[in-house]
Amino acid sequence: MDFQEIKSLDAQYLAKTYARYPVALVGGRNATLTDSEGKEYIDFGAGIAVNIFGANDEAWKAAVIEQLGKIQHVSNYYYAEPQVRLAKLLCERTGAKRVFFSNSGGEANECALKAARKYSFMKYGAGRSRIVSLKNSFHGRTLFTLTATGQEEFHRYFAPFVPEVAYADASLPDVVRAAENKACAVIIECVQGESGVTALSKPFVQALAAWCKEQDVLLICDEVQCGNGRTGTLYSYEQYGITPDIVTTAKGLAGGLPIGACLFFERAQDALSAGDHGSTFGGNPVSCAAAVNVISRLTREFLLEVQGKAAYLRAKLKNIEGVKAVTGLGMMIGLEIGTDSKQAAAACLEKGLLVLTAHKRLRLVPPLTITKTEMDEGLSILKEVLS
Ligand SMILES: *Cc1c(COP(=O)(O)O)cnc(C)c1O
Repeated sequence: MDFQEIKSLDAQYLAKTYARYPVALVGGRNATLTDSEGKEYIDFGAGIAVNIFGANDEAWKAAVIEQLGKIQHVSNYYYAEPQVRLAKLLCERTGAKRVFFSNSGGEANECALKAARKYSFMKYGAGRSRIVSLKNSFHGRTLFTLTATGQEEFHRYFAPFVPEVAYADASLPDVVRAAENKACAVIIECVQGESGVTALSKPFVQALAAWCKEQDVLLICDEVQCGNGRTGTLYSYEQYGITPDIVTTAKGLAGGLPIGACLFFERAQDALSAGDHGSTFGGNPVSCAAAVNVISRLTREFLLEVQGKAAYLRAKLKNIEGVKAVTGLGMMIGLEIGTDSKQAAAACLEKGLLVLTAHKRLRLVPPLTITKTEMDEGLSILKEVLS
């Protein structure tokens, strides 16, 4: 199919949920992608921080194909080796005790929020079910995670919401106010993605973690976007010197296949028991095999390279005319620009560069394997567009 045919069938048959850029991506290698008409793009978006190793990574493909040659799906009524391999890896790398697998970030957060309510209920009984989330957060599209998303624009049309969710500024006094002594959990993104690529301050996150511990309120770190090597450490909370009670992740975890994970640390490890939660596809063996490949390759050396690439990109970006600020952490980069971000993204696309937006900012989340040549090509297009 050529682009016009794809576009018209999409308009005819798909729900109108997406405002798409006028491109159909069909292939590529690493951070260089090709569209249906043969035009090439440098990829600074990685399918929203998903394609950690870019397109057509040989070792990743081999891991996926090996599992496809065995079996594509097994029910969670039975044991599955790829699941235990991945869960063991994640626990060994993070210090978490147990993992629940889902299929997406929203579901990983749904699991975390349910588990927090149960943890509190079992220990303290009813009346302590409140979830505190931060303003400008994004936690997903299921009704509970949408409720926990602290941005009003997402809340139009979908009332009534899940009760007992309160929003706070990123300050401890405001979290304490919002908790009203009836919170079971606080959910944060150490680096807020959708709302503008904003890293929370270290003193705030540390004070929050200490307060949560003291109050026996679970601290949930949503690492759906900022996790899996994106910020230069396996998970971004590591850079804040805290230990959360629950960590959720998804996007890049399996390098391009659907998966979500909810990691339970010591305090929360027994929150869920048989029958409390489940998923038909959760922990799919192909997704898990892909994620084992991803996590086992995010070694110390690899992460140091990511840090180097992030430093390189950030230094170059700061010097581009029209860039007012460079935000975020590691390879999760926000660009404050004087002009409309959607227009700038469209202009980049036109010139062969894929970037994302996050409200008023441009959002850059390239594959972690991006080469220097690819970075330089992308930077030169950005420079052209912004100046
Ligand atoms: C993308 C995202 C989600 C939702 O993940 P889905 O896989 O789209 O359900 C949740 N939290 C954060 C921080 C995200 O970036």
